[in-house]
Amino acid sequence: MTDNWLDDDYDPQSRFDNMDGIESEFWKKKKLEEMTRQEWELLCDGCGKCCLNKLEIRRKIKFTRTHCRFLDCQSCLCKIYEHRFKQVPDCRDINLDAVREQPRWLPKTCAYWLLDNGYELPDWHPLRTGKAASVHEAGMSLRGRNTVSESGIDDYENYIIDWSDL
Ligand code: SF4
Ligand code: SF4
Repeated sequence: MTDNWLDDDYDPQSRFDNMDGIESEFWKKKKLEEMTRQEWELLCDGCGKCCLNKLEIRRKIKFTRTHCRFLDCQSCLCKIYEHRFKQVPDCRDINLDAVREQPRWLPKTCAYWLLDNGYELPDWHPLRTGKAASVHEAGMSLRGRNTVSESGIDDYENYIIDWSDL
């Protein structure tokens, strides 16, 4: 079975090119639980940082620079998005429970976590710039970082990182 269902023709910008019917600056007016499915999906900045592997040590989440083997590090997209829960049993749906889970396991730049905790979306967020690539241009995604695929790794503790945006 292939490990790669990523549609080569998928353009991340397409999410932001047609905002017909989307209330302007909806994220300032609605709580997460009031958002439509489309609004919820638009909040994801595409950073890919939730696909880093983590360890829980003494009730704190430690991120590692190892990433799920299905993450494409250039686009920061999941290669098996439609099938991810079937293929990867511990892949998490990003829902309210996940956003509010303690200890926090989403990066502190994650739009869901930021809004739920009373912060604004950062100025590089695609919803503010209108550009899907702005997360990469701002250096806030995994693109270009020193990460490695989890394949073959079993000593995750040797890969713990302390990046300021996690
Ligand atoms: S960390 Fe949050 S904003 Fe970034 S890709 Fe994951 S869900 Fe989206
Ligand atoms: S399977 Fe889940 S954890 Fe792995 S890349 Fe896809 S979304 Fe990320």
